[in-house]
Formats: sequence, structure tokens, C-alpha cells
Amino acid sequence: MTVVINMRDGLDERKIKLAARFILNGKLVAFPTETVYGLGADALNTNAVRRIFEAKGRPADNPLIIHIARFEDLKRLTSHIPPEAKLLAEQFWPGPLTMILPKREEVPYVTTGGLDTVAVRMPSHPIARALIEESTPIAAPSANISGRPSPTLAEHVIDDFYGKIECIIDGGETQVGVESTVIDLTSEKPVLLRPGGLPLEELEKGIGEIQIHPAVRGKLIDVAKSPGMKYRHYSPKARVIVVEGRKENVRKRIPELVEEYRSKGFRVGVMATEVYEADEFFNLGKTEDEVARNLFRALRELDKRGVEIIIAEGIEERGLGFAVMNRLRKAAGYRIVWV
Ligand code: AMP
Ligand code: MG
Repeated sequence: MTVVINMRDGLDERKIKLAARFILNGKLVAFPTETVYGLGADALNTNAVRRIFEAKGRPADNPLIIHIARFEDLKRLTSHIPPEAKLLAEQFWPGPLTMILPKREEVPYVTTGGLDTVAVRMPSHPIARALIEESTPIAAPSANISGRPSPTLAEHVIDDFYGKIECIIDGGETQVGVESTVIDLTSEKPVLLRPGGLPLEELEKGIGEIQIHPAVRGKLIDVAKSPGMKYRHYSPKARVIVVEGRKENVRKRIPELVEEYRSKGFRVGVMATEVYEADEFFNLGKTEDEVARNLFRALRELDKRGVEIIIAEGIEERGLGFAVMNRLRKAAGYRIVWV
């Protein structure tokens, strides 16, 4: 039985209390954050967290992010708070930034995927904040079946988990649309493990130059630092092909690819920032921020419309474009056409 709570019209304290009770009783609650919807459980309750992995079909060594509502909560979760963590928290929390820090003993290994480090973030979404405040720190990965595109609407969560979890809070469409930026603060220098909702440019304004983990750029699989990076990700059922390069070449190549696949009998969809002729078309918007907001929805929707091939236009890797291209290339299994 899944209770769907409608909070599209804003915070409702009574409904938050109901959802918080599920969390405190070791149940699963999907809820909106400013990035994507999360599938939450009490982060310190081993059995509850185990159920997140079961429900998602998530490999046990892919660690979860713990969501907190106050900076003081950080002290319950980590044994050492380096100066950069304070600096970053002051500037970017609440917001789409996750920090990797040494874990305290109290944090179960189930939550951290067996690691001695813990990932922590303070979301800014009012529903997420109220839910955490009414309950406890909440471990929450994206609320999708493992490997599928992340959910940016409650309908996406319903598609994947209706009947499998106790509660889904519908807070409408998420603002940012891509997951949080993940930064590792346990090495000598800060290392970016995943580009996300907080642009790298902003982060570097905050604490200076940041190293980028090599796995961020390629399909490199040796990733002891961030085990999540080695798994299949964001994949719709259709095969995705990304077209990247000079604007005018991309404009020419996309229609050619559409024709090529159509002539072979495939149903072809295009997702892009300009209009193209195809069996199905999804307009991603103009700016990097708009594309980030629409990206996962486009992948899910084109799937629903029954296309077998998705041709996706690549965008520039500035601002949220860095996170967008990271997700898109993974969704494509690195099938990239360079023009
Ligand atoms: P998801 O919640 O599905 O968006 O994935 C969480 C991301 O954070 C994954 O890429 C994880 O590998 C990463 N992550 C979580 N905890 C840690 C940790 N302790 N060390 C490194 N990366 C982590
Ligand atoms: Mg995820």
C-alpha cells in the first residue's frame, strides 16, 4: 500500500507529520528535493536503509547521501569537519552540494556502501527540510529503479515504486532537475566526484581550484572513491545517441541520423534545444538551466511515446551543462557522434 500525499500547493504541517512518522517507523518515503525526487529512509536505521537498496535494485556497494536540515546534524554523522566543509556549508547550504567526509561509527556501513566515509547534503526544498526536521537525518538516493532516469515529477516515482513503498509526497516538478554536485573532502585537496546542480564555476569561486576525478570525464571504471560511478545510469529503454560538436554540424547531422534510422524501420525521437522533424520530438529549452530541468523528463517521456532510438543534441559544458552532458553521455552508454 502506497500513500500518495499531495503537497503541490505548498507545505502542510499535518501531512509532513504523517510522512515523518513513516520515516521514524523505518518505512520508505519518496519526497521532492530541489534536485530530483529522493527515496528516503532513516539514515541510522540499518533495516530501513537496506529496504532502499532492495526497492531500487541498487548494488550494495553504491553508497547513499544523507540529507540533513541543520549544520549541527553534521556532527552526528562525521568524526572530523575540515575547514573547507564549514566554508562550503556557509556558502552553499542549503543547496545542491554533497560533501564526502569521514564517517562516525554510528553511521551504519549499509548506508555508506561499506565505506569509512559518508556523503552529506542539506537540501533547500521546503518539503525536504520540513520532513527531515520532523524526523531524523534521511538517507536518500534518487527515487528511480536503479539504472533508470532520475525522477523530476511525482508521476515518475509512481511509475517506478507505486505499491512497493509506503509513501510518496507529490511536490510538483523539481527545480534543478539534475542530482547534487558531489565533492570529496577526505583527500589532501577537494576532488569533484560528480558534477551536479551546483556548477563547478560557483564552487571554485568559493574555495579555489578543484581537481576533477578522472572518472567524471570518461567511462573509466576504477572508482574506489565513488563506487556509484561504475554502474549503468540514467538509461531509458530506447537507445540514446548523443550528437556533439560545432553547432552548424550538429544541425546538419541530426536530420541525417533521423533519416538513417527511420529508413531502417526504427521509430526515432529527438530531444534538442531547437526543433527537428522526427517521429517524436521533445524541446529541451534554451539555457543550460532549462535543459537540466527537462533532461530526465525528456528521456522518460520519449520512452513512453514508444521510440526505439533517441537522438540527443549535446550542449555546452558550462554551468549546469557540465552535469547535463555527464548524465547524457552515460544515458547513451557513451554512444557519441562527434561532428
Ligand atoms: P544517488 O543518490 O543515486 O544520486 O548517488 C549518490 C552518489 O554519491 C553516488 O555517485 C555515490 O557513489 C556518491 N557517494 C555517496 N556516498 C559516497 C561516499 N562515501 N564516497 C564517495 N562517493 C559517495
Ligand atoms: Mg541515482
